Amino acid sequence: MGVVAPQLIRNAFPRHPPSISLSAAFAPISPRARVPVHVRSFKTPLPHSSPRTPYKTTLKVHPFPLVPPSRLIGVVMASSGPVQKSEEEWQAILSPEQFRILRLKGTEYPGTGQYDKFIADGIYECAGCGTPLYKSITKFNSGCGWPAFFEGLPGAINRTPDPDGRRTEITCAACGGHLGHVFKGEGFNTPTDERHCVNSISLKFVPASGSN
Ligand SMILES: [Zn+2]
Repeated sequence: MGVVAPQLIRNAFPRHPPSISLSAAFAPISPRARVPVHVRSFKTPLPHSSPRTPYKTTLKVHPFPLVPPSRLIGVVMASSGPVQKSEEEWQAILSPEQFRILRLKGTEYPGTGQYDKFIADGIYECAGCGTPLYKSITKFNSGCGWPAFFEGLPGAINRTPDPDGRRTEITCAACGGHLGHVFKGEGFNTPTDERHCVNSISLKFVPASGSN
C-alpha cells in the first residue's frame, strides 16, 4: 500500500470544521460590539400616538420589544433594501442616538426633535443612507411632538405591522432604518388622512436648490 496523501486525510477528518463558521457567526455579538440599550417607559399611551389617534391604551409601551441582545442584533442587521450594512458598519457612521433609533427601533422623546416645528422648502432624506423620503410640502403640524407627513415619496417607505398589532411601523425601503409609525383616519385635514409620525433623528433635511 502506498502513502495516503495528507490532503485526503484532512478532507476525510477535518480537524476543526466548526471553527471558521462559528467565529464568523458570533463575531457581531461579541461583548465589545454590544450597544448600550436604554429602556424607557413612556407615560403617553403609545410613542407617536396623538390625541387624535383612534385607539387609546393606558399600557406602558417600551420603545422596542424586550428581547435578548442576540435577537436585537438580528433586528439590527435586517434590511431587504439595496443598502446592506453590518451592525459595526452602522455604528461607525451613525451617532449613538441615531443608532438607537434607526437600527434598534427606538423613539425620540416627544417635542425634542430638530424637525418637530421645522418649516422650510426642501427634501427630507433618510439620516442613515441618504435616500429621499419626504417632500417638505407634505409636512404638516400635527401637534403630536414629532414631525408629521401625510405622504412619503413613492416606493421610499416600507410599512410593517408592529408585533402588538396596534401600530404600523415605517422604515426606509433602502436601508431598513426605523422612521416611526403611520396612522390613518385621525381626521387631520390632509389629502391622505394619514400621518407619518417620524423621529427627527431618522431624517436629514436638504434645502431646495434655487433652481427648483
Ligand atoms: Zn435609509
